Amino acid sequence: MLVSRLTRIMATVIPTVLLAGCASLADRWINRVRFKPPYAASPEAAALHQQLRVIDLHADPLLWNRDLLKRGSRGHVDVPRLQEANVALQVFGVVNGVPFPPRMDNNPDRWDVITLLAALQGWPEATHDGRLQRALYQADKLAERAQASNGALTLITNRRDLEALLAARERGELIIGAMLSLEGTQALEGNPANVERLFQAGFRMLGLVHLFDNAMAGSAHGVDKYGLTEKGRGLIQRALALGMIIDLAHASPATIDDVLAMADRPVVASHGGVRGTCDTARNLADRHIRGIAKTGGVIGIGLYKYATCGKTLNDTVGAMRYVADLVGVEHVALGSDFDGAVTTVVDASGLVMLTDALLQEGFTEAQIAATMGGNALRVFRQTLPEEQKSIKGAGENLE
Ligand SMILES: [Zn+2]
Repeated sequence: MLVSRLTRIMATVIPTVLLAGCASLADRWINRVRFKPPYAASPEAAALHQQLRVIDLHADPLLWNRDLLKRGSRGHVDVPRLQEANVALQVFGVVNGVPFPPRMDNNPDRWDVITLLAALQGWPEATHDGRLQRALYQADKLAERAQASNGALTLITNRRDLEALLAARERGELIIGAMLSLEGTQALEGNPANVERLFQAGFRMLGLVHLFDNAMAGSAHGVDKYGLTEKGRGLIQRALALGMIIDLAHASPATIDDVLAMADRPVVASHGGVRGTCDTARNLADRHIRGIAKTGGVIGIGLYKYATCGKTLNDTVGAMRYVADLVGVEHVALGSDFDGAVTTVVDASGLVMLTDALLQEGFTEAQIAATMGGNALRVFRQTLPEEQKSIKGAGENLE
């Protein structure tokens, strides 16, 4: 592939420092915030926010070379900011293939920009072209940071981990749970059995598609937008048997229909919006909101314009209100898409402002607790494996 050959030449000719500088500039440029910290919430919102178990269903900091344990001067998410935001559990998306240029519609799978980004950031050579290796590398990065965090960050792979996390937080420990989520099954490289390697590496949420149709399923942004393929059906069965949570974010309408017809437990749409307030091809139609609610699942609403068609937290709350009115507040959740190459209204440290906006919109305290994390927690309790299945260190998977 021309792109990968060019990348290799660039990577040897141009000094590493300059390359890393390019990647960090890109990071700074595309992961911006509309309102910068510090954030001043009302005293009522601040007090309530401290009582919440906040769960965010999607953020992509693992794509970028930043130290998760240090407060960054760019991007949206790191452990200090999550601590400040009283986040109990962060789901970490793992991006593994992005076409260039990435469009909202009609993307073919070509000119994978992650090849360039991986090379610029000095990721292992195997990740430059290998999508499975990219996913395993990012999982490894998270596991390594969790290990180095002195108990500030802990991987959640089963219900026992989850309850231990909640008990520790109840005791006042500033510990944050981290769950791995795949953003697009192109990482399986055409082989549904590879999902077991991802499971072993700690992945517990499975986003079927990202920006283009893949061998398992069609994307809302793809060329053909088909539903589940034969392989995709086999994959869903394997993933459900393992105890993984199926994520319908970015899925084509046909894929959503096919998954809902197969789902025997809650499924999620981790990050995005709804057509009722923002009518785009990527957002959920009413019948799909109803279908996800029927499984007992949740819909994570984003903090960015592509999700809500607006630039404020009131637009996020508007989409949350829409889902609550249509199917009940027990199906509303937060899916920020922090660090997902979008401009968000606030960064992670500003999530208290969302609590404030929900209060102003007239959500009760119980409804806010459900929306900000309680509903997602219910889904995790119903879907995660009960206890540890033998998990190898993700690093052992890296070839
Ligand atoms: Zn996404």
